Amino acid sequence: MGCGVDEVVAAFHRVAEVITAHRDELVDLDRAIGDGDHGENLTRGFTAVRASLDEGEHGSPAEVLKLVASTLISTVGGAAGPLYGTALLRAAKAVPDRVELGPEDVAAALAAALEGVVARGRAEAGDKTMVDALVPAVAAAERAVGDGGDTRAVLAAASAAAETGARETAPLVARKGRASYLGERSAGHLDPGARSTALVLGAFASPGPS
Ligand code: ADP
Ligand code: MG
Ligand code: MG
Repeated sequence: MGCGVDEVVAAFHRVAEVITAHRDELVDLDRAIGDGDHGENLTRGFTAVRASLDEGEHGSPAEVLKLVASTLISTVGGAAGPLYGTALLRAAKAVPDRVELGPEDVAAALAAALEGVVARGRAEAGDKTMVDALVPAVAAAERAVGDGGDTRAVLAAASAAAETGARETAPLVARKGRASYLGERSAGHLDPGARSTALVLGAFASPGPS
């Protein structure tokens, strides 16, 4: 299976559904170590994404990624908006402007998304941020490509690894973002951004229809 423009659009509709369904969980996670707005921020952003996707036709996955990025940047405040926006803009630039992406394009998009987040936020693995979900996701996606996996296999591998990476943020002490103000007291809670990243990749990996 390839990853065509309609699949990418459907995947972002699923992302919006999943994020909305987990809104309260993300709010609670961010309330524990931040300011409690992560679930609200992303629900607002991805609801706006659905509306902008519904507005017209889309020529390629790259075009869709660009539209989603600019919508998130203009509707999501705080740390997560620019981070998600940069990630998706970099992903858009990393893939060829073709109607259908292959497994290696998906892995390249994920790697570029991670680079974008790091360029923007300067977090390293272990700092208790969304980087801790993305680093294992990129590694798993690249392994799946090496094993000859199709796009669905690559997304499934990335999603499973992000899920584990997000879970493993719990014992970490935050060194970036608002949670770092808490110092040692940030330990014992999942990072909301790592959790939302795992949810986004999970929605991408889950089969349609939305
Ligand atoms: P804010 O903290 O501004 O309220 P959000 O609550 O929407 O923004 O997002 C918080 C999430 O953003 C954190 O859980 C973390 O995953 C991510 N984050 C914050 N700062 C950074 C950074 N410098 N690099 C990577 N991710 C970051
Ligand atoms: Mg917050
Ligand atoms: Mg905030």
